[in-house]
Amino acid sequence: MPPPDPPTTGPRILVIEDERPMRIALEDALTAEGYRVLTAADGAAGLDRALKEKPDLILLDIMLPKLDGFALCAELRRLSVSVPILMLTAKSQVEDRVTGLDAGADDYLVKPFSTRELLARVRALLRRAQQPGKTIRDLSFGTARIDLVRQTAVRGRTVLHLTAREFAMLRLLAEADGQPVTRERFLDVVWGYTAFPTTRTIDNHIAALRAKLEPDPVHPRYLKTVHGVGYRLERESE
Ligand code: CA
Repeated sequence: MPPPDPPTTGPRILVIEDERPMRIALEDALTAEGYRVLTAADGAAGLDRALKEKPDLILLDIMLPKLDGFALCAELRRLSVSVPILMLTAKSQVEDRVTGLDAGADDYLVKPFSTRELLARVRALLRRAQQPGKTIRDLSFGTARIDLVRQTAVRGRTVLHLTAREFAMLRLLAEADGQPVTRERFLDVVWGYTAFPTTRTIDNHIAALRAKLEPDPVHPRYLKTVHGVGYRLERESE
């Protein structure tokens, strides 16, 4: 039997990856799910294809010849290209997630990853992109105002100093839309799979956020503990 024709209607995914076996494996896995796949083998070619062909999602390796994944991501955001970007990062690159979030990436996947995990993240990002109204830009904690896009926080005229990780945690909580976020998910998205941060690290960061944002940190009104699970964000009704 001849191989089936490539699909012509599924979402278009641009894979920017310099390692050929990885690029081909990603292309095969995505094509098998009905996605249309474009590829680029270096950062400059990837940027060019992203701008010309306007894919629905980009899988972006970080270590790339000519232009690395962080610079490519930052350049797309500078040009106001809002395509969802899933970064692929090596296990050893501890700081990549935070740097990538700062550069405007939407999610991370640590190599080596399973095809199943990859496809789940791709589906989630495409789903989120189809509901732009869901993208949360601002949060209020009583009189405190957080701008998740610009990464600024103020209470009245007082500037509140939040770290990049604290903004990333708030973004994750906001995107969960009132559902609990597990400590493992925080570690996965905000820290990466590294040996030294423990789930206690998450508790300490939540305590720091409560101290900065909650009107009464001992009785949190917004950053709620979900016992045995993690944390969830209670948003003020508009
Ligand atoms: Ca690479």
